[in-house]
Amino acid sequence: MPPAAPKPEILAAFESAKGFMPVREGLALHAAAAEAGRLGLPLLEVGTYCGRSAILLADAAREAGVTAITVDHHRGSEEQQPGWEYHDESTVDPEVGRMDTLPTFRRTLHKAGLEDHVVAIVGRSPQVAAFWATPLALVFIDGGHTDEHATADYEGWAPHIAEGGLLVIHDVFPDPADEFTGQAPYRIYLRALASGAFTEASATDSLRVLRRVGAGV
Ligand code: SAH
Ligand code: MG
Repeated sequence: MPPAAPKPEILAAFESAKGFMPVREGLALHAAAAEAGRLGLPLLEVGTYCGRSAILLADAAREAGVTAITVDHHRGSEEQQPGWEYHDESTVDPEVGRMDTLPTFRRTLHKAGLEDHVVAIVGRSPQVAAFWATPLALVFIDGGHTDEHATADYEGWAPHIAEGGLLVIHDVFPDPADEFTGQAPYRIYLRALASGAFTEASATDSLRVLRRVGAGV
């Protein structure tokens, strides 16, 4: 049976949430999460921002009876800082003078009725990955777009994907003319395929779904 699409109220919550996940790619992410959830292991996202994609992972996790985990330091990526194209002034904590997307994330998940299905980890992705030891059904990489960050996300999290589990990468742009924030996600996608540990399961716009088929990530 193909995985069920999100219910209208989940789709509505997703569409009204602040963030960077288009609907078509969001539906592909949800389908991947629903399928992977059947392994009975947690789903993990790198790059929470305000919880837009986390809604979809949380919904799929609820359906599968597993937990969605989402990791972010909540201080924003390079291109989201003041003066950059993807900056949103309302995400700045005036007391601290830095971005803080955690409060918006919490409101988003609360409004969607999905708080119980998500565990948010506030921290830098490589620092969290360094002590991680639980096999995962799905890893969704949507964090920093520099080579340093994307590579660390791949190296830190891909080894934890269970056999048959899925690696999902956002913002994969094979043509440099299409990219907005660099081709680092494309480069980790190529690396995953070249490792022999993953095969491509689907491609929807800039979202790639790879299946873990072997060791040697
Ligand atoms: N998935 C979100 C968009 C994520 S934007 C959506 O659906 O809208 C990228 C996020 O990655 C930002 O919130 C930024 O703070 C986070 N990020 C970037 N580099 C990171 C790192 N090294 N560790 C943790 N989070 C990081
Ligand atoms: Mg993205």
